[in-house]
Amino acid sequence: MHLKSMTLRGFKSFASATTLRFEPGITCVVGPNGSGKSNVVDALAWVMGEQGAKSLRGGKMEDVIFAGTSGRPPLGRAEVSLTIDNTDGALPIDYTEVTISRIMFRNGGSEYAINGSACRLLDIQELLSDSGIGREMHVIVGQGQLDAVLQAGPEERRAFIEEAAGVLKHRKRKEKALRKLDAMQANLTRITDLTTELR
Ligand code: ATP
Repeated sequence: MHLKSMTLRGFKSFASATTLRFEPGITCVVGPNGSGKSNVVDALAWVMGEQGAKSLRGGKMEDVIFAGTSGRPPLGRAEVSLTIDNTDGALPIDYTEVTISRIMFRNGGSEYAINGSACRLLDIQELLSDSGIGREMHVIVGQGQLDAVLQAGPEERRAFIEEAAGVLKHRKRKEKALRKLDAMQANLTRITDLTTELR
């Protein structure tokens, strides 16, 4: 599995549609300060489902939408599509090439798609989590983040390892199932109370 290409449109400084193509192996992004190198990494995290504005170096989520320059008005939406080569079947989907897309509108609405079909954020997160690319984005190590990993306590370190090993998805599912079970138990108690009252 490797990243094949990424297209940004209206994302941060990339107002016009811009496609980056990646070959297997190491890709270096070079450019002067402020030219948008980190914005490329932000786009990668964002399209894979990143939900934290701070992780995207912004104050609020809408900050990812092109805010305009002296010569160009702001845009109303940001869109990023990431195409992944899946010939080795690392992603649990029956396609040799997978494109995930995310669109955000200035009014706050968001859309996600896998190979052009609308889906939920959860579908993208689950698709990627088996490959070790997960919701917590530990595959993207930002500036200064290495220190954080080295200084992490045992609990945090365990979370990093679980994420990389694909265990986190099952932990989240278990938490969700337990929450449902709690709600069901509360309903059951309520029904028992009502039946007792009616007798
Ligand atoms: P450095 O080498 O200094 O780390 P960089 O190449 O990584 O720089 P980025 O941080 O990716 O640069 O890009 C910063 C630029 O992106 C700034 O000029 C900033 O104004 C622009 N930018 C960020 N968000 C937006 C937005 N929503 N709309 C328009 N431009 C934006």
